Amino acid sequence: MNTFQENYDVIVIGAGHAGVEAALASSRMGTQTLLITINLNMLAFMPCNPSIGGSAKGIVVREIDALGGEMGRNIDKTYIQMKMLNTGKGPAVRSLRAQADKDLYAATMKQTVERQENLTLRQGVVDELLVEDGKISGIRTSTGTKYGAKAVIVTTGTALRGEIIIGELKYSSGPNNSLASVTLADNLRDLGFEMGRFKTGTPPRVLGSTIDYSKTESQPGDEKPVHFSFLSKDADYLKDQIPCWLTYTSATSHDIINKNLYRAPMFSGIVKGVGPRYCPSIEDKVVRFADKPRHQLFLEPEGRSTDEVYVQGLSTSLPEDVQFELLRSIPGLEKAEMMRPGYAIEYDMIMPHQLRPTLETKKISGLFTAGQTNGTSGYEEAAGQGIMAGINASLKIQGKESLILKRSEAYIGVMIDDLVTKGTLEPYRLLTSRAEHRLILRHDNADMRLTAIGREIGLVDDARWAVFEAKKAQFERELLRLKTTKLKPTPATNEKLGAMGFAPLKDALSAADFLKRPEVDYACVVKFIGEASETLDPHVIELIETETIYEGYIKKAFAQVEKMQRLEAKKIPADIDWDALDSIATEARQKFKKINPETLGQASRISGVNPADISILMVHLQGKR
Ligand SMILES: Cc1cc2nc3c(=O)[nH]c(=O)nc-3n(C[C@H](O)[C@H](O)[C@H](O)COP(=O)(O)OP(=O)(O)OC[C@H]3O[C@@H](n4cnc5c(N)ncnc54)[C@H](O)[C@@H]3O)c2cc1C
Repeated sequence: MNTFQENYDVIVIGAGHAGVEAALASSRMGTQTLLITINLNMLAFMPCNPSIGGSAKGIVVREIDALGGEMGRNIDKTYIQMKMLNTGKGPAVRSLRAQADKDLYAATMKQTVERQENLTLRQGVVDELLVEDGKISGIRTSTGTKYGAKAVIVTTGTALRGEIIIGELKYSSGPNNSLASVTLADNLRDLGFEMGRFKTGTPPRVLGSTIDYSKTESQPGDEKPVHFSFLSKDADYLKDQIPCWLTYTSATSHDIINKNLYRAPMFSGIVKGVGPRYCPSIEDKVVRFADKPRHQLFLEPEGRSTDEVYVQGLSTSLPEDVQFELLRSIPGLEKAEMMRPGYAIEYDMIMPHQLRPTLETKKISGLFTAGQTNGTSGYEEAAGQGIMAGINASLKIQGKESLILKRSEAYIGVMIDDLVTKGTLEPYRLLTSRAEHRLILRHDNADMRLTAIGREIGLVDDARWAVFEAKKAQFERELLRLKTTKLKPTPATNEKLGAMGFAPLKDALSAADFLKRPEVDYACVVKFIGEASETLDPHVIELIETETIYEGYIKKAFAQVEKMQRLEAKKIPADIDWDALDSIATEARQKFKKINPETLGQASRISGVNPADISILMVHLQGKR
């Protein structure tokens, strides 16, 4: 029988990007939470690129914010540059990306965590998960201290049996030479979890004052940027943003790499872990795209209070002497001083097919996992899982129904469903192409999709709810005005249209239908129907334009969603005997047994399962009923 130093409702292991969102979510929902981590100075630490957001990732940050999470607010307080990506493309792929002041980002997040009610922050190394009769009961740290809990969330990231690799050197370490977490990795194996070995890498850092920027191209942010959080006021945007700088590898760089490939751990076999397809090392790029004469590199300042510069695109684990030579072969870096060498890091992860869509493990009740530990790569992916694990741990303790975001509701839903249904054999990175309903999952409507859900589960506070309700009401009022106000083909109207270079009207049409004309935007419409009786939030105008112009496509997308919902609603009993379905394909039976899908919809998305197998399963379930 364990005696505990203290008891909590929820314990979160690891204060990385997943851990802080998990702990803030459960404590904001009123559950007593302990956040314990190896080193408090590495809370919300960015071991790799000093940026938040990007394609699909930026939408996840909006989703976390809309649910009542912290990442969006934190980056809006600590960015040094903000940029909207893909502005030339459709609304489904527009996404924000911010350059962060790394140290300020971590310090600001730590302050928020320290001030959070119901949340205790502690430094410690967790060595063991305490389990009684298949149920989590607490943790034991390396000092022998035991803490009791009704739920535990493991978010150990790249420290889990972390090993750093630079050239021929390989040693036990977490990111940036921090402590690795080895005993807990053994404990997870002993508890029977199927573990994998993944790898990621980071580039060297150089001293900014030794860079010759005249040989690079400035990459500034947006002049008047918008922000991630729905609570941020765009008018308060950062005036003195810091640019990034673009340079390229040279032919000499490629020669240096090719000449030293035999010493590259990626090719000498020292690296065993599986690396991220979408974040390849420079040696990998030079080999895989040998026909390319040069590769883009972005020089990204790491913050205002440091002169460290991150060389994005030069991730490497080549020996240090080669890295010195390589840096000097790059235009602008000929005299650059290397402050930190690039390195690769291998780490253990838990195969995510062992998780339920709530991120609770199937093996141990009350044990949840989130972040890089589940096989993803990226701060945003980690934070998206963290908030869901925190929410579901708290709902479980409150005895309430769990929250599973659908693929049609959020990128977070797409990511978690992909992980628990298809599993992953390499670091999973979110992409817009992973979402079949991406026209519905946009940057501009994350609050319309998720804030009411966040309110219902008790995570969205009154202040955020008031902002949301006011915006929603304004949006609905103005959309109604556009739908019910007619433009008539009067001489005055057609004269005005002519003067603006537009075709005359033949028949009357609603202002909303007028807005659907390719050359027309909201500003143009109000020239005909007059301004709204109130000052509109610019985000309301953006939403009105998107929802109106793409109305047809959005309707089609929702019809598709409805069709899928029917499959999604068909629950599969947890005790189903898969061997009783004798006519399904062997591969499908093996996959069903391994993943134990909870709905017909989930079963249909398992790779290797055919529509025929799903029809047989459907008939079987109907028969049961
Ligand atoms: C070298 C490197 C390069 C990377 N490159 C990229 C990239 O190019 N692109 C990309 O998208 N992502 C990259 N990442 C990944 C990115 O950093 C992670 O995705 C993100 O930090 C994951 O967040 P997390 O919360 O899951 O884990 P982390 O941020 O790693 O946090 C885990 C926390 O748990 C703590 N911890 C671990 N074990 C214990 C224990 N037993 N007891 C107590 N505390 C514990 C750790 O100290 C740490 O604070 C890279 C990471 C590293 C290290």
